[in-house]
Amino acid sequence: MDPPGRGPGVVAPGPYRIAAMETSPLTLNRLSVYLRCLRHLQELGIERVSSQELARRYRLSAAQIRKDLAHFGEFGIRGVGYRVDQLVERLNSLLGLDRQHRIVVVGMGRLGIALARYLGFNHDSFRVVAGLDNDPEKVGLRVGHLKIRHSDELEKVVRRSRAEIGILTVPAKAAESNYGSLVDAGVKAVLNFAPVRLPEAPGVQTKNVDFRIH
Ligand code: NAD
Repeated sequence: MDPPGRGPGVVAPGPYRIAAMETSPLTLNRLSVYLRCLRHLQELGIERVSSQELARRYRLSAAQIRKDLAHFGEFGIRGVGYRVDQLVERLNSLLGLDRQHRIVVVGMGRLGIALARYLGFNHDSFRVVAGLDNDPEKVGLRVGHLKIRHSDELEKVVRRSRAEIGILTVPAKAAESNYGSLVDAGVKAVLNFAPVRLPEAPGVQTKNVDFRIH
């Protein structure tokens, strides 16, 4: 489990706006850690949990949990704790996971295919709606529920599929131009795996992910 405040893949500066409040990336990360723990409790059939119990089970800080949740209007009841289902629902909504986010993957090589196939990306909150590549040998191939499209069509594909998130898994030299196309097509966020610093477009949440660093 990630320590609170250091979830995977987050390096971009904040703050972000959630629930009409400015929220730092560190707080967002902690909320997503709480959510994962609470979902685990749901799987175990546990209906209520105190901040102390949550902290003890998952090696978190009870005071920090209370502080973070109180900030969003969630107060545990003394001696009873929090209702797990309610808190999961609230955190899902705060983190925008109560609606579906549509993703396109640009660069359907080893990493792009793995991400496009990853079940967590084809579940309730995230769905890969297209995979693109510029290799003519790959265009037209099927990967799970997707047929790989040519990256020349990127803007059209993004618009038609109403994708909000682009994942860049192309070689470094191809990252910037594809980033520009994703931005022009109107995505709201880009997760970049290519080892290159992108010229971050205003209004587009851009995150660089490096497995070695994270
Ligand atoms: P890969 O060679 O298997 O896949 C790259 C794909 O991009 C290929 O299918 C290729 O045809 C396609 N491509 C090349 N130029 C393109 C262009 N202009 N437009 C569209 N598609 C294009 O490589 P991989 O192992 O999957 O790695 C992909 C990228 O992710 C690389 O930049 C690599 O350095 C990076 N990577 C990052 C991490 C990390 O932790 N950040 C980990 C692994 C790989």
